[in-house]
Amino acid sequence: MTRQKDLIHKTDWDIMIVLDACRYDYFKAIKPHAVPATSEGIWTMEWLTKTFPDYYNDIVYVSGNAYCSNVPTMDVTLKSVVSFHGTKHFFHVVNAWDYAWDDKLKLINPKGVLECAEIAIQLHKKKKLIIHLMQPHLPFVTCTMPQTKKDIPPFRDKLTDQQTKDKKKLCEMGDIWWWINYLDKNNITDTFAYLYLKGGPKAITKAYMDNLNYVMKYVDMFTKKYSNKKIVITADHGNYLGEDGHYGHHPPRSKILTTVPWWTSW
Ligand SMILES: [Zn+2]
Repeated sequence: MTRQKDLIHKTDWDIMIVLDACRYDYFKAIKPHAVPATSEGIWTMEWLTKTFPDYYNDIVYVSGNAYCSNVPTMDVTLKSVVSFHGTKHFFHVVNAWDYAWDDKLKLINPKGVLECAEIAIQLHKKKKLIIHLMQPHLPFVTCTMPQTKKDIPPFRDKLTDQQTKDKKKLCEMGDIWWWINYLDKNNITDTFAYLYLKGGPKAITKAYMDNLNYVMKYVDMFTKKYSNKKIVITADHGNYLGEDGHYGHHPPRSKILTTVPWWTSW
C-alpha cells in the first residue's frame, strides 16, 4: 500500500482536507474512487510529527484540531504532552479550532473551520492549504452526552447479571468493559460506553457514520465551490469500531488505524 506521506509530499495538490479519525472503508462507501494509503500515525500528534518533520514554506494549515496550533498548547487530557507547534513547520497556521467551537453542539464545527479556510485561500493565493476537520472523530453530533451520572443507564447491575457470564459478549465489549468500570469509579462519561449501553455496537457505528455524513455535507459543498482547485481528501488515522473489542484509536497498532483514504478531485 502506498505511504500517505509520499502521496502528500509528491502529489501536486492545491487543497488537502484532513478528516480526523476517518476510516478508509467507511469513506469508500461514500466516495468509491478513494484508494487506501498507509498513515504514519495512529493519533493526530504522531501523524503530524512523522508526516511533517521539516519546515514547509509552501503550506498554510487551517487547523480544526487543537493539536496543531500557532502556539504550543498543553494537552489537557495527557497533561505532559505539548501540541505540535505548527508555525515551526508551516508558513502559517490558522487556529480554526478556537474560532469554530460550537457551544451548542459542544464540538468544533466544520462550517466554521471551512469559513476560516475560505479566508485563508484569499489571503494566501500562492500557498497550498491543509484544512483539518475534527469529524468523524468524537464528539458525535447525533449523541448528546448525559450531564450527570444519574442519566447514564444502570450498567453495573445489567452487566453483573447477564454479560459478565457471557464470554463472547465480554470479548465483543473489550474496551467498553474497561471504560464502564472506569466510569463507575471516576464518575465521568465516555461516549463509546454510553452509546454501547444504550444501543450496543450498532449504536456506535451509526453515530460514527452520522458524524462522517455530517462533515461530508460541508466538504461536498466546499469541493463544489472550489472545483477549479486540485483537492485531496484524506485522514490522519483510522478508528476502531469494535474490532477485537477496541473502540477509538489507541494501541494496539493495526491496519484499522493506519489505513486512511486518499481521494482526489482530478
Ligand atoms: Zn486525529
